[in-house]
Amino acid sequence: MNNIAVFPGSFDPFTTGHESIVKRALPLFDKIIIAIGFNTNKKDFFPLVVRENWIKKVFVTYENVEVVSFEGLTIDFCKKTGAKYLLRGLRTAMDFEYERSIAQMNKYMSSGIESVFLLTTPELTPVNSTIVRDIIRHGGDASQFLPKEINLEDYKI
Ligand code: ADP
Repeated sequence: MNNIAVFPGSFDPFTTGHESIVKRALPLFDKIIIAIGFNTNKKDFFPLVVRENWIKKVFVTYENVEVVSFEGLTIDFCKKTGAKYLLRGLRTAMDFEYERSIAQMNKYMSSGIESVFLLTTPELTPVNSTIVRDIIRHGGDASQFLPKEINLEDYKI
């Protein structure tokens, strides 16, 4: 398997925006590893295991999608898994500036790994995990921003 991509993120929670990036990128790679980065010092909204199980449910029928969690530098995780590509999604100019710095720093540290960006589809541009968390926190209905396999009732905050 040559073309492995890692799609890293906190996915707290995994949204329709994330789902769309993975599904649209599938024809480009032999395998996509959705890698949930965790940081023991950072407070999560949904526990890691809940996020992981939700994403696994979304891709249960996809043989070429793997869901794992990792701690540490994303490029080190890529090396460990043999991934040569880092997949990221771009919504706005702000995303672009942020992603550009990370991708270029990653390139300094590991020249063999290429960052690949997919532009969001227009209707998913505003979908954002931070806003989805706020909706949930305040009792609103966020279901339209989540893949249909993710049921918030599975996890009561
Ligand atoms: P991080 O915590 O690393 O920013 P996120 O979980 O917020 O990770 O997002 C992971 C990736 O998904 C990032 O590249 C982000 O830009 C992308 N992404 C998030 N929401 C969308 C969306 N609506 N459309 C396209 N890409 C998105």
